[in-house]
Amino acid sequence: MVAENRAEALGNKVSKVEGFKAASRRLRGGISEELRAPTTAFAESDHQLLKFHGIYQGYDRDSATELKQAGAEKRTEFMARIKAPAGLMTAQQYLAVDALAQSYSQGRLRITTRQGLQFHGVAKHDLYATIHGVNQALLTTFGACGDVARNVTATAAPVEDAVHRRIRADAVMISNALFPQTRAYHEIWVGDEEIRPAPKAEPEVDPLYGPTYLPRKFKIGITAPEDNSIEVLTNDLGIVALFDGDRLQGYVFAIGGGLGMTHNKAHTYPRLASYVAFVEPDDLLPAVKAVLAIHRDHSDRVDRKHARLKYVVDALGLPRIKAEMERHLDKPLADPPAFPALRIKDHSGWHPQGDGKWYYGLPILSGRIEDKGKVRVATGLRRVLSEIAARPVFTPAQDVIFADVDLADKERLEAILEEEGVILPGAETLLRRFALACPALPSCGLALTEAERVLDDILVDIETVLKRHGVGDERIALRVTGCPNGCARPSVGDIGLVGRIPGHYAIYLGGDFDTTRLNARVFERVPMAEIGRTLEPVIALFATERHEGEGFGDFCRRWGLDRIAATAERATANAAE
Ligand code: SF4
Repeated sequence: MVAENRAEALGNKVSKVEGFKAASRRLRGGISEELRAPTTAFAESDHQLLKFHGIYQGYDRDSATELKQAGAEKRTEFMARIKAPAGLMTAQQYLAVDALAQSYSQGRLRITTRQGLQFHGVAKHDLYATIHGVNQALLTTFGACGDVARNVTATAAPVEDAVHRRIRADAVMISNALFPQTRAYHEIWVGDEEIRPAPKAEPEVDPLYGPTYLPRKFKIGITAPEDNSIEVLTNDLGIVALFDGDRLQGYVFAIGGGLGMTHNKAHTYPRLASYVAFVEPDDLLPAVKAVLAIHRDHSDRVDRKHARLKYVVDALGLPRIKAEMERHLDKPLADPPAFPALRIKDHSGWHPQGDGKWYYGLPILSGRIEDKGKVRVATGLRRVLSEIAARPVFTPAQDVIFADVDLADKERLEAILEEEGVILPGAETLLRRFALACPALPSCGLALTEAERVLDDILVDIETVLKRHGVGDERIALRVTGCPNGCARPSVGDIGLVGRIPGHYAIYLGGDFDTTRLNARVFERVPMAEIGRTLEPVIALFATERHEGEGFGDFCRRWGLDRIAATAERATANAAE
């Protein structure tokens, strides 16, 4: 059901967030005044507007119950997200962010699944200094959250060839072109004196987004087929750049991806983007704006759980989506041509860049940059980027790549990381290397159960089972989230664990490692401690019945998810006898 019809069915009552946006005076609201007030939290309308500025207001859920019982207020804290198109940042910028983290977020940072960086646990009275500091480093949090185009992802490998250079440049260009047109962010967080020359007066209404911006977020990613580490089909707009040697042929637009859903609400579901049209190189930005306009004009503004472009794509159908693009561009578009299969590459360890330099991919579990006991990831990154000429690139797998490393510095780089107790690639299982988890508890208000904090336990459990069946070094993509909103992309990959109720997960199987197929729910409400035991009969089957080179998710699909479920149920019944 498209926006107008659904709005009609529900009495045309648009969501209250629409009202906040309309009355926001171009995203200003009362943020500036509330920032100065001696309070610990923002009012709801400004909390919603803060998201456009890259900030989420939440509270520490670990201490909330105890504080409530003691009659005290829960502890409000903030997450601030830095946008880094294609995961790009200089070493100096990273070090500035790291210094801010030491001052305002307990020395901890988190690499996001969209190549950004997050501060967690920032107090309200430190928000201005944090965001101001980010801008002083010539980075921004503007548009990292909220109902606008989010961070544009792009294949992270810092390879110096025509393909990778063009994709990176396109990601940055698209990102810059899609910022909302308002002075609000600079007024509040930066200070106008930094901006020269003086800006032009703001137009009445944002020329791209209109008065109420987008119905919800809009995710864009751009990739080459052979290096799809951004999982392009999970985006609202996935762009596949096609080259003939060094020559850019054009872009295939895949539209309508998005993995969020709500348990027991059938009108919400995960969806992979569908290939819709081929776009000539010169039409890239107008075509991106055309798709954004379709989302802006057609997506649901009543029910925010249903306000994603994927539902419009299903409601209108691909031919009409293509026709809408053509109407915006005022020209016909070709159908997508055949192109090579999408593949996910492993960028961990050393790789030549193609310009005489090297890059080193370092997997970081859940993207957590922090010092914990003898494993000092934060110090390791700080030392590498201070002591060696290198720059960081953040990947959609929440890992870091050190780029532009001289041959002479390779040994030293690894030695620094080892001195800080960082686990180097090769020492971990492939299950662990490719695992993703969302933040969930204690910082996410929507979490139904744990994700990141229990990832290690879940990994040990599954690793033990895999090893017992002789498949301990299989390349398996595991994703864990604390709720079905999909932040760590649990609907793609071989195994998805989605929080159901506290301590319990639904288990999804049958996606593929290259993330071109959705997985499906096979087990409901499995207690965390029984995940390995539940998967064991499936893993045993995989070990004995798989075809040569067949991935775990592919095997599950070929064998049949119903048969897999029945096998597991039989095994449970036998064990109980
Ligand atoms: Fe929070 Fe759910 Fe996203 Fe995890 S998937 S971070 S629990 S909203």
